[in-house]
Amino acid sequence: MTSKAFAAALVLCGLSAAACGTSAANGTPAGPARNGEPTSQTTTQTAQAAHAAPATAPAPSAGGSVPAGPLSGKIVVVDPGHNGLNYKYPSKINKKVNILTQWKACDTTGTATDNGYSEAAFTWDVSQRLAKILRDRGATVKLTRTSNSGVGPCITERAAIGNKAKADAVISVHADGAPPSGHGFHVIIPKKINGPVDPVVGASTELGIDVRDSIRSVAGMPYSTYVGTKALSFRNDLGGLNLSTVPKIFVECGNMRNPGDAAKFQSAAFRQKMALALADGTQTYLK
Ligand code: ZN
Repeated sequence: MTSKAFAAALVLCGLSAAACGTSAANGTPAGPARNGEPTSQTTTQTAQAAHAAPATAPAPSAGGSVPAGPLSGKIVVVDPGHNGLNYKYPSKINKKVNILTQWKACDTTGTATDNGYSEAAFTWDVSQRLAKILRDRGATVKLTRTSNSGVGPCITERAAIGNKAKADAVISVHADGAPPSGHGFHVIIPKKINGPVDPVVGASTELGIDVRDSIRSVAGMPYSTYVGTKALSFRNDLGGLNLSTVPKIFVECGNMRNPGDAAKFQSAAFRQKMALALADGTQTYLK
């Protein structure tokens, strides 16, 4: 993000504590629609699936023409969580939508670091970096929002974008707002709900494991200390997953309320490493 945008985020969070998600005072969720944000309250289970496809570089073409990228022909949808102005339009983002297992807010404000770097800005930055890497490798990439200065879209629409694109993989980028003592990343994978996501739960699990492995090895981020089993969390309360008919995961890149994770998130070099890790894991899955 630009320094101008960073300054704007600081100002916005300073004006409205609700804009920044979790209250720094007590660590409990704040804000009009914070309940839609993935946190550690749900059940987890151990992943049994094993999916280990080694990532190898594409062979250069013998004829001297430009080789097709390793992701040529693949469609990846990148979903940057939340949006920069969600907090300004509570009536829009609090509108309830049906996610099959329950009704939830259309979208949420997201969280922020204690010094006001918003999750929406973080996910937007990482997602743009991720999209560029994937495109450079030949993938067709679509994002679910076009800027960090808008509202939404609703979680139902975010799912629909991946479905309509017939995406081979969808990565929803987030960062958590958990109690400050917890740190590290986790990947959220859909569970069967007797609904549209059921046929892609297996593929989503493979995608999740590949991305999990890549985040640890490429970005050097440790597994979450406070949620999931080996950084995997299986959930049926997220509309973006329940309504997906294509392989999809959420990545909680770390905990914005943890000082160590928060410092990493504010480093452009770390965000680039995280984007590279997400791209590498996705590529491993797509091979
Ligand atoms: Zn989020």
